[in-house]
Amino acid sequence: MIRHLGLKAYGKINLGLDVLRRREDGYHDVRMIMQTVGLYDKIDIYLKETPGIEIVTNLFYLPVNENNLVYKAAKLLMDEFHVSHGIRITLKKFIPVSAGMAGGSSDAAAVLFGVNKMFQLGLSREELMKRGVKIGADVPYCVLRGTALSEGIGEVLTPLPDMPQCQVLIAKPAVGVSTKFVYDNLNLEGLKAEDHPDIDGIIEAIKSHNIHQVSQRLGNILETVTIKEYPVIEQIKEKIKELGAVNALMSGSGPTVFGIFVSPKAAENAYEELRYGESKGLVKQVYLTNFYNTKEVTNGQ
Ligand code: ATP
Repeated sequence: MIRHLGLKAYGKINLGLDVLRRREDGYHDVRMIMQTVGLYDKIDIYLKETPGIEIVTNLFYLPVNENNLVYKAAKLLMDEFHVSHGIRITLKKFIPVSAGMAGGSSDAAAVLFGVNKMFQLGLSREELMKRGVKIGADVPYCVLRGTALSEGIGEVLTPLPDMPQCQVLIAKPAVGVSTKFVYDNLNLEGLKAEDHPDIDGIIEAIKSHNIHQVSQRLGNILETVTIKEYPVIEQIKEKIKELGAVNALMSGSGPTVFGIFVSPKAAENAYEELRYGESKGLVKQVYLTNFYNTKEVTNGQ
């Protein structure tokens, strides 16, 4: 049996996010273009002789009990397969929390992968994805990763060709946003047709590997809620574009903004400006990363 596994749980951004309808069960049918980025949380899983799931994390305010998504992921598989050993999970967070980057979902996906491997449960990627949706709507995508169209509540996934390599600036203001709040306040009936992003257009642009066309079409319907609540998000978008991004958008339910840069020099300058320059008051966390394509890795993590 494997005694220790080191895993990377990558964050995501949305190149497009549309909401089609609210369902009877409270979930929403979505059409989202998901893209993994190179920013990740580090997770280690250690085998214990005694039963139980222990969690240690660097962020004091995160739950270390059954409310942590890594706990839910481990318990789901360990119960189903009657695993008698225990595990200790150490979670080092780098992906901003409550930020629209699916950090918790990605951690859960990595733990599904890790527990499957550690106890040789023999589940395929598709079987892990099926179980993942019980933990959260974005978990199946976080098991798949790369560039993908996400439909249904997030569990119907269609892989898309890799995005061309470019720099991605991630900037989060000093507010956290609850995904539930944003969806509860989304007034679909009150929106105009042009508030809905052109998801099919983004797919076409991705298929033709045209970063400029993708960038022109970035769109997120949840901006109608989150930006109204936190106008600083619009200011960050404007600043990032002023600093040379081909475009900028809020990710997920926010408040994180990402900017796409084709010039590495401009991306570096924008990072420096937001981190240390006159604009540093706008953001709490800022990272410079890139699109992360799964084909580059061999073992799935
Ligand atoms: P999404 O993009 O899927 O909406 P998010 O970025 O808005 O996700 P997360 O950071 O994934 O939000 O999760 C935020 C909430 O989930 C917080 O209330 C936090 O306490 C709880 N949580 C549980 N487990 C985790 C985890 N492993 N990492 C981060 N948050 C977690």
